[in-house]
This record gives sequence, C-alpha cells and structure tokens, in this order.
Amino acid sequence: MKITRVSLFQMTLHLKKPYRLSGGRLLFEKLDSTFLRLDTDEGLSGWAEACPWGHTYLPAHGAGIRAAAELFAPALIGMDPRRLEHINRVMDLTLPGHLYAKQPFDTACWDILGQATGLPIVELLGGRYEEPIPIASSISTDTPDGMLADIDAYRALGYTTHSIKVGADIGLDIERIRFLKQNEKPGEFMFFDVNRAWTPSEAISVMNAVAEIPATFEQPCETLEQCAHVRRLTRQPISLDERLETEGDMQRIASEGIGEVVNIKLNRVGGLTRARRLRDIAMANGIKMLVMATGGSVLADTEVQHLAQSIPREMRLGTWLCQEMLVEDPAPGRGSRNDGAGNSAAPDAPGIGVAPDLDVLGEPVAVYESAA
Ligand code: MG
Repeated sequence: MKITRVSLFQMTLHLKKPYRLSGGRLLFEKLDSTFLRLDTDEGLSGWAEACPWGHTYLPAHGAGIRAAAELFAPALIGMDPRRLEHINRVMDLTLPGHLYAKQPFDTACWDILGQATGLPIVELLGGRYEEPIPIASSISTDTPDGMLADIDAYRALGYTTHSIKVGADIGLDIERIRFLKQNEKPGEFMFFDVNRAWTPSEAISVMNAVAEIPATFEQPCETLEQCAHVRRLTRQPISLDERLETEGDMQRIASEGIGEVVNIKLNRVGGLTRARRLRDIAMANGIKMLVMATGGSVLADTEVQHLAQSIPREMRLGTWLCQEMLVEDPAPGRGSRNDGAGNSAAPDAPGIGVAPDLDVLGEPVAVYESAA
C-alpha cells in the first residue's frame, strides 16, 4: 500500500464564548484547525485533525502545520502508511522537531492502519479497557462565583471532572481554590490548571496556603526545572502538561520525581506513535494520565479517545472534549461524544471511526500528489 495523495483543509472554529487561561493573560475566541486526508493506491483514506490552542499558548500555530505539510507530503508520498515508525523517521529526517506539525500525518496513518486491519485504533494500541472515560470540563478564569456557575453548567451535562484555570493574583487564586473545593460534590475530581502562570515562589505560596486541601495542580510554572523546585517544597500532586513534549521529558519527569500526573496532548507530542511511548513510560512509573487534544472538533477529540481508552481506569484520570466549546461541528452526531453522564468512549469502527463532512470542510487549501 502506498500514499498517493495528501489533501489539506482549513476551518476556523469559533468558541461559543471567549475563554481565558493562565490567569487571564491569554484570551481565545477562535481556533485555526487543519484537516488532513491521506489517500492510498488501495482505495483507503485516512483522516486527522490538528488544531493548536490558538497561537499564543504554545509554540505551534495552524499555518505552521500547513507550511510543514509542504515538506512532509512529497517525502511521504509513495510510502506505506501502515509502517508508522518508518513514517515518523522520515518526518524527523525531513524536518527535525515541529512535533505539532507531524501529528496529523502520524494520526491519519493510524486511521489507515486501523481500516486496513478492520480494527479501531484502540485495539492496535494494546486493547480497549471498557470503563468509560470521564470528560473534564475546562473552567475559564473568573470570579469564584462565576467559576462555580460555569461548573454548575457542566454538572448539568453530567461532568464530574473539572479542570479549573487559575494563575492570576495569588490571593485571589487561594480564594478561588478554597471556595471551589468547599463546593466540590462527592465523586467529583477538581484539579487546578495554572498553565505556567506562577513563578516558583508564587506556586509555593499558594500550594502551601491550601496544603490542607487535597488538590492536584497542573503545570504551576513555566519550566520543568521550576516545577521540580516547587515539587520539593510542596506536598500536593503536580501534573505536567505544556512542558511534556518528548520521551526525554517524560523520562525526566519520572526519574526526577517532578510530577505524579501528566497531561498528554496528542498534537503537542506529535501523534499517536509518540504518545503511546509516553503512555508506556508513565505506566511503568506509576504516573497517572490525562489524555486530551490541544483543541479542535470531534475528529481531534475522537483521535485522543483511542489512546485514553487503552489506559486502565486506575491510571487514567480523564479526557476533554473541545467540541463542546465550539460553534462549528464538521461531523454532526458522529465520533466520540458526551454520553450524557459526562463520559466518552472510542468508537468501535475501524481506524479513528469518524471522518468529517466534505461539504462542511469545503475545498482543500492544498493538494499534493505523486508524479505518476
Ligand atoms: Mg493544562
């Protein structure tokens, strides 16, 4: 089997309401999403979506994915998409780094491998653990009352897991954490996502001020070194998110004891082939996992559910469905969705199990084909 054509589509995805994180310093109103289709000489086509969370959050942007595709497409046309390690090696030789731009190529190849074998990707990743995957809400930084109202709206949709964005004035953050934890319901899991906004001294001050409250803090500071410093001087579990990109990062987090939880974002780490390795290192070291898209529609969300569902329940804290924050939906009613009880699941169909509607995506913005 050979890749014969690469087609790129672009969609602007609007958020239903403006969203702030990292203490409110970053504001988001729309996302630039790229949809990739790989066609093969055997009639199978694979899809993937790559959608960075805007261009101010991480060193990744939508136009960057499409620019890198100009390099990847000619290098990959003619290759067998089922040979995932080979595909990734050729991308690494073509353009070192730029993991976020490699993710859609890697993931679309997994979609083809699944269709070729008649299996959903989760089975190819080691097999499905049947327990449903709790979906985390994403609570924008606001007043304590405003944030609780937002949590209540998610509760009405069945959510029991909440990712709460803090990281502003530390006095206000302490107030937010205390107030929201006082209002936590039995069976709920609230964690506080700082998105790198605190300095080490601020993180140590806040976390020690609420030391009596069992709470997990995600990416309190900018670097792994700063988070390791905070880890040594605080007691609550730390989750690493933005600064987990490579296998080397994962090995450091495990061997230096920097965190007890990691948040694996498929776009940031470069796709399923690399994410599977991160999962395995985390599993071997007793590190629990959240597994999410960086952003995007139901296609990006569904890609992620295959990895999430390959992790046993006791090691898997949850996922996130960005689709619920968006106006547009390129595959209405299909793919991984909220089951009404705040849980998600990977589809049973071969491959990813969902493809976007072409009439919603419109014409491709670029097409690359083999010369033959
Ligand atoms: Mg996070």
